[in-house]
Amino acid sequence: MKVFAPNYYKKFSCIADKCKHSCCIGWEIDIDDETFEQYKNNNTEFGRKLNDNIIINDDCAYFKLTDNERCPFLNKNNLCEIILNLGEESLCQICSDHPRFKNFYGDRVEIGLGLTCEEVARIIINENAKFELIEIDETKEIGVVYDDETEFFNIRNEIFKIIECEDSFESAIEKLLDKFNIKIPEKSVYDWADIYLKLERLDNIWSEMLEKIKSTDDIHFKLPCTYEKELKNLLIYFIYRHLGESVYDGNFNGRLLFAIISCYMISTLCRIGYNIEDVARMYSSEIEYSDENFNALIELLQNESLEI
Ligand code: SF4
Repeated sequence: MKVFAPNYYKKFSCIADKCKHSCCIGWEIDIDDETFEQYKNNNTEFGRKLNDNIIINDDCAYFKLTDNERCPFLNKNNLCEIILNLGEESLCQICSDHPRFKNFYGDRVEIGLGLTCEEVARIIINENAKFELIEIDETKEIGVVYDDETEFFNIRNEIFKIIECEDSFESAIEKLLDKFNIKIPEKSVYDWADIYLKLERLDNIWSEMLEKIKSTDDIHFKLPCTYEKELKNLLIYFIYRHLGESVYDGNFNGRLLFAIISCYMISTLCRIGYNIEDVARMYSSEIEYSDENFNALIELLQNESLEI
């Protein structure tokens, strides 16, 4: 099976100690069985430290976070001691994959970079090249072509073409809504802020951002903004990552509207003074990377995406 990735994919490498929002802080990290076996059999001094910092429960093994929620192997210089002592190849699956994601189809795997990582946010937002998928690898598995997926890839290519070719972000949105005969639920920007405030929130700064929308007079969801190319890049990212699953859950409208509303929320926050890279990373971390929040939104948008 062929493995595809966006053309910016190879620009990414972790910025490690220069990262302000390290993914090694605040997340519980499960260790896959194969890596756990390797750690268990490591009898060096570092191996003993490694095993002393692993919690084992019925389902899995995971790293014991410190009191301030850091991975126990993130040293004071914000470098990973596992990499320093055992090399990158000794990382568990989650650590070596992150921030990459994979979407599996019958005859291909699509890989991408997750926006929750600040370096990825910087790369995606500042990308100037036209979005393209490139073949980066091939797996041993034999693929199966499914008609539903082929049809979806054709539709998605048309969507990408509209976004790339339209003069503005706004006209691309209009064309997409028109093409699929869907409309954005009629809500003010203040209603949207309330909806997001009802979702699970992790970081107080995210709550402050949403409250700032509510306390700012006279802002509208769909005003033109200066970040045309950046918003188009984000729209393509959300579609690339989340629309494919509609082949199986049937929620095409909800998923497409999620991509659109996400860009409007990000542009609204930029208009009231936040930096687009910070907002996009925060949005991804609070919404995209929370299954609960993401599912709540796509269900809401499916129900509200009334046919015109
Ligand atoms: S968030 Fe991204 S840049 Fe930061 S430590 Fe994690 S992978 Fe590296």
